[in-house]
Amino acid sequence: MSSGAGVLALDGPAGAGKSTVARRCAQLLGLTVLDTGAMYRAVTIACLHSGVDLQDGAACARIGQSVAIVLEDDGRVFLDGRDVTAEVRTPEITATVSTVSAHAMVRDIMVRHQRLWAEHHGAGVVEGRDIGTVVFPAARVKVFLVASNFERARRRLNDEVEAGRTVNFDDLLADLERRDRIDSERVSSPLKPADDAVLIDTTGRSIDDVVDHIVSLYRARS
Ligand code: C5P
Repeated sequence: MSSGAGVLALDGPAGAGKSTVARRCAQLLGLTVLDTGAMYRAVTIACLHSGVDLQDGAACARIGQSVAIVLEDDGRVFLDGRDVTAEVRTPEITATVSTVSAHAMVRDIMVRHQRLWAEHHGAGVVEGRDIGTVVFPAARVKVFLVASNFERARRRLNDEVEAGRTVNFDDLLADLERRDRIDSERVSSPLKPADDAVLIDTTGRSIDDVVDHIVSLYRARS
């Protein structure tokens, strides 16, 4: 099993800047990115399609066990061979994913895949909520990104506008806060920084500045 010794663990709440920062750090370090949020989102699509009760952990885990989720290095997401890259980001999935991801049985399955990915890739940037605490406690560098709620909702609003969807800022803010609450209060692998994580507040900081900081942390430990 991979210890994750080559992993750059990037955790934090929604909208803290993880995806953009992960991609840029990976480019500079010559690594690939594993977006673990996309995995939970893909399982959620499968659960919704199958019609199981999302509160039923065992039923969701059975679905998680039976589907093939493939994350390509270029960021595309496939569910049983179907390209769901756009579907994983829809508001319906965003609104329900935290219910599915709260189940310990679902998490066990995803974590197994994540460790296999690291074993296969040797090193990489892994973004999520529990990467530094649970998935790779021996990661080379652990970063926990945060940003103000206002800033996070503003970034999400930009993403939605770019995706051609019309959304209301207050609704987005409420959804972020609801998701943070579920992710942070769940019993299994709650969202929280590892004791040895470097906390970085991205509010008002440029992406380049944040990326430089993280890349130098990783290089210093290589
Ligand atoms: O990062 P993203 O917003 O795509 O994550 C979607 C959801 O997946 C999170 O709100 C959380 O419920 C779940 N998640 C998780 N553990 C991870 C990554 C994501 O529980 N490692």
